[in-house]
Amino acid sequence: MKTEKLTERFSQWIIETEEHPEMRLETLEKADELLNNPELMVQSDERRSHVADTLESWRYHLLKNQNANDPIRKKEFLEMLDLTANLISVRKNRTPRKATEVVHSRLILEDNYFTEEQIRNLITNSSKTKELSKRAQAITRSNFSNPEKSGKLKKRMSLYAPLYLSNYCINSCLYCGFRYSNELNRIHLEMPEVIQQAEILKENGFKNILLVAGDFPKLTSTNYFVEIIKELKNMDLNLSVEIAPMKIQSYEMLFSAGAKGITLYQETYNKEYYRIYHPKGTKSYYEWRLEGLERAAETGFQSLGLGILLGLTDPVEELISLIRHGLYIQSRFPDSLLSFSLPRIYEGPDDFKPAFYVDDNTFIRMYCVLRSIFPKSHLVLSTRESIPLRNKLADICITKMSAGSSTAPGGYESNRRNQKDRQQFPTTDNRSPLEVKEWLEKNDFEINWIE
Ligand code: SF4
Repeated sequence: MKTEKLTERFSQWIIETEEHPEMRLETLEKADELLNNPELMVQSDERRSHVADTLESWRYHLLKNQNANDPIRKKEFLEMLDLTANLISVRKNRTPRKATEVVHSRLILEDNYFTEEQIRNLITNSSKTKELSKRAQAITRSNFSNPEKSGKLKKRMSLYAPLYLSNYCINSCLYCGFRYSNELNRIHLEMPEVIQQAEILKENGFKNILLVAGDFPKLTSTNYFVEIIKELKNMDLNLSVEIAPMKIQSYEMLFSAGAKGITLYQETYNKEYYRIYHPKGTKSYYEWRLEGLERAAETGFQSLGLGILLGLTDPVEELISLIRHGLYIQSRFPDSLLSFSLPRIYEGPDDFKPAFYVDDNTFIRMYCVLRSIFPKSHLVLSTRESIPLRNKLADICITKMSAGSSTAPGGYESNRRNQKDRQQFPTTDNRSPLEVKEWLEKNDFEINWIE
């Protein structure tokens, strides 16, 4: 496999732009050596994985520092790092990752269904709520319902439960109760406790479980999640994870262990605000987070959850970026099943107040616009929202919701005590899973507990 030498193509660029060009050239020489030596490619797994890893870290370092004086050349260089890392890892050929470009480019919907201006208009115009709801409801019914023999439609609703594993976190997200500096009763579940929590959820009917944890690499390592996934899979559970973005090798391990889905909300697509809300820790790496879903999808994950945290910045611009991101992921991974969620901040640490308010009707219109653009995707609603609003949105366009949730590790107990000292955020809909089930059944929903 003779290829043009990377060092020849890029050495000048590296000398001109890198702080430590010798070290960088050495990495590229190692990549050249592998690419031009089939025996090495076959025999040295460890070496390949080390070089691929170094190329990937280099690329993310460059993405973070966007101050290039020759953007075209830089783009070419970034693509080379991306695809060379992929090639050396012996993964399926693919196109370069482009999320960082796409979420900041103009939205183009294939059939010109909505322009960006129309979306802005629909979200900001309160007189559009009824019309949009009607349309979203019709689309949802035609994609998420089953006709009964009587001719009546049974609407489909998936129910899931979050299982919080750990509230330890090294990050400093201003809005989060788990942030490092917050005084909190820190709890990290070990396997017997995880199994106990899963059994309680199973007794309540859930088979679809979202594993959630703060980012604390010493405790919440890849191996920790792998062991939990393997164990819970034996309990016949369908598992997704909502944890810090990972390296592609770690996503591979989660996928092989049996996880089915990855949920990774960008929180805000606005880079300036992102920096403010995530001042320290690994979560401050915007691009690393943004491409997390792509890395996961490249390893085989098909169930992918996107979201924005409402209250941080201008909700309309955030929704447009979320749509761009969703469309991009959908076009790159046509077999994926996307889910969208719009969690609203109600309460955070004492010193945090959301800077942007999103009222109920705007919230509804945002979900309705998502439904129009993603007719077959899950729209997800958590127990942050009130009972009347959850019931209303379930009837319009929501197709997946949590029920009876606890946002504290070990929070599913027979006698649930006040969990304020260890939870991530308070829930508002505190109906039990049974009560939610009964409401859904009474209102012609068929419940999917599995996925
Ligand atoms: S949002 Fe996530 S990463 Fe940030 S402090 Fe909370 S748990 Fe940690």
